[in-house]
Amino acid sequence: MDDLDLIMDLHIDGDRQGPGGEEETRLAIALAGLMGREGLRIADIGCGTGASTLTLAGALDASLIAVDFLPPFLERLRKRADAAGFRDRIETLATSMDALPFDDGGLDAIWSEGAIYNMGFETGVSAWRRFLKPGGVLAVSELTWITAERPEALTHHWCREYPEVNTASNKFAALERNGYMPLGYFPLQKHCWIENYYRPIEARFAGFLDRHGGSRAAKALVVEHTEEIALYERYADYVSYGFYIARRVG
Ligand code: SAH
Repeated sequence: MDDLDLIMDLHIDGDRQGPGGEEETRLAIALAGLMGREGLRIADIGCGTGASTLTLAGALDASLIAVDFLPPFLERLRKRADAAGFRDRIETLATSMDALPFDDGGLDAIWSEGAIYNMGFETGVSAWRRFLKPGGVLAVSELTWITAERPEALTHHWCREYPEVNTASNKFAALERNGYMPLGYFPLQKHCWIENYYRPIEARFAGFLDRHGGSRAAKALVVEHTEEIALYERYADYVSYGFYIARRVG
């Protein structure tokens, strides 16, 4: 099994593959002004096994295109959509977020939770803008400094792992530079990381290690996740995901 297969195996049974929450997705839906509108067309990019896709389908009169480059996640999403009775409104698309096949101006909203960093925030918001109808809405969560200052060790870690990490004001400046008008923002609270994402991963460690016997790569992946969790817990007052909601201008 290669590294990507191992990562998939550790994450595929999760309700979500990144920090977030159903309440938080609903709050972003409200800030986006999508409630009560009919016949929406929305893409959920980097959807994983579909946490936000299912919430969007439940809250809105919308058809959804759930995009991820890992087909097993999409297969799991289809099963969850069937079980929830949303199968006829959710289409899955296995493709990379930097090569989306959408027509220009066809989407009422683009959703993306905990995924745009794979392209880079500014590259992503710039590339995806043309898929939105004029006035269409972008809702993305992105790693964010939630205070003006932070410990040097934390800066050092994230500037190496994800140099685009920045404050919300800088992220909104990037959105404005790329033809969007800010509509709303909130940082994800700790439970979105701990209860909703990290505790369920930890609960899967033992079964994962059992399945992969003595595999060094599997053990290394568990160590990597354990270190990530410890880092988050240590510095949760300084860094989170910010949820950014913005409208396409023009
Ligand atoms: N939005 C989901 C998953 C977040 S994890 C949630 O909040 O639970 C990030 C997701 O992005 C993963 O499912 C991963 O497979 C997907 N991904 C990573 N790089 C990608 C790319 N280049 N194109 C499409 N999807 C990608």
